[in-house]
Amino acid sequence: KPAGPVSTVKRRLGVMGGTFDPIHHGHLVAASEVAARFHLDEVVFVPTGQPWQKSQRDVTPAEDRYLMTVIATAENPQFSVSRIDIDRGGATYTTDTLRELHALDPDADLFFITGADALGQILTWKNSGELFSLAHFIGVTRPGHVLADPGFPDGGVSLVEVPALAISSTDCRARVAAGDPVWYLVPDGVVRYIDKRALYRGGTPRGGGAP
Ligand code: ATP
Ligand code: MG
Repeated sequence: KPAGPVSTVKRRLGVMGGTFDPIHHGHLVAASEVAARFHLDEVVFVPTGQPWQKSQRDVTPAEDRYLMTVIATAENPQFSVSRIDIDRGGATYTTDTLRELHALDPDADLFFITGADALGQILTWKNSGELFSLAHFIGVTRPGHVLADPGFPDGGVSLVEVPALAISSTDCRARVAAGDPVWYLVPDGVVRYIDKRALYRGGTPRGGGAP
């Protein structure tokens, strides 16, 4: 039985991993810019499960981070959100994320988008060698961090300049805790969700190195 017309053009799927605690316009601009530059068909945002690198602080429950990510991306038909890292449970390893996305869509080429700060750390990740067979890596500029070729295997990484937004989730959390506004740093719906769920208000500072 004929399998139907064979498409010669592979789907190009961007992957934006993050804690998204909360998601902010820095994440969204990076994804949008890379999508345009690399002619991506879609960018899937993948909120982490329990993130091993951040176990020194309490990370907001996965369902809240997932919902904020859905709210922030809902209006963009090119953006989607995946629960795979949340539903897998336990620590998130990007090799697991990429393997699972590949299994779900074996014909797609994967482009993993990462900020300058995280890019340099990738070689220290578990199974980092395997990462480069699973996806092409795209390092994006981020204010306060130097974007440098981390010495990945040949052709494994592209460096892209994106509009500079000096926004971090750490700063957003600190602002909410201090009663300062996060309007225009995060999407309006995320401001309202943070307020509705009273996130980041806790008496204990979050994400800082407070003694
Ligand atoms: P935190 O302060 O909690 O670490 P964050 O702002 O760094 O939060 P993450 O969820 O850790 O956000 O980041 C997810 C991905 O988005 C990472 O690859 C990170 O480098 C990238 N990223 C985050 N903020 C920006 C930004 N303002 N510009 C470019 N890339 C960014
Ligand atoms: Mg970060």
